[in-house]
Amino acid sequence: MNLVINNYEKIKSNINNSNINIIAVSKSFEFNHIKPLVDYGHKHFGENKVQEAKYKWLKIKKDIPDLCLHMIGKLQSNKAKEAIEIFDYIHSVDTIKLANLLSKFEVILNKKRKYFIQINLGNEKQKNGISVDNLDNFYNHCVKDLKLVIVGLMAIPPKNSEASKYFKILMELNKGLGLKELSMGMSGDFKEAIKFNTTFVRIGSAIFGGRS
Ligand SMILES: *Cc1c(COP(=O)(O)O)cnc(C)c1O
Repeated sequence: MNLVINNYEKIKSNINNSNINIIAVSKSFEFNHIKPLVDYGHKHFGENKVQEAKYKWLKIKKDIPDLCLHMIGKLQSNKAKEAIEIFDYIHSVDTIKLANLLSKFEVILNKKRKYFIQINLGNEKQKNGISVDNLDNFYNHCVKDLKLVIVGLMAIPPKNSEASKYFKILMELNKGLGLKELSMGMSGDFKEAIKFNTTFVRIGSAIFGGRS
């Protein structure tokens, strides 16, 4: 069996819950390396750069209409329009400026997308995301003023910390807003995230191997 498929099946056997979607994070890998998983029928893939995603996925998405592409990285506002063209989900809505532009380009392109609000749970200077204090205002602006379809919250716990503490906070914030989806859990901590009701785990290296 192909190594990528083997890894994928291993992850799946650890999850065993049909509410949880695996986003296979294929950033930095050539399509040749990803293709076996596409051929295997997997539908959710994650990228963190707009240009790379277009180059790798534009044609495939035409051939496989139900393939879902997820933007999981920092989205620069000057790429907002292109991001709406190629991605089905954007997990990294993290500023008012970006949210306003996404809303504007949804109207211009006549497309609706699904969004996660990225939360900076550790209030880390170097990390993107809305602070917990600003979440209610930001959420209301996105939903009421901009009509964005916010499906849930997303976060990356601070490094070298106990992830479960942050997963619990994110789960409670999500519940407080009445949101259905949760984007949390990566190769190293997805088993913890499952305990806190994640619905989208973002798995890269445990499926595709190490990135150089
Ligand atoms: C790269 C990346 C992942 C996947 O990380 P792995 O540790 O390789 O599973 C998940 N989420 C985000 C936001 C990423 O940038």
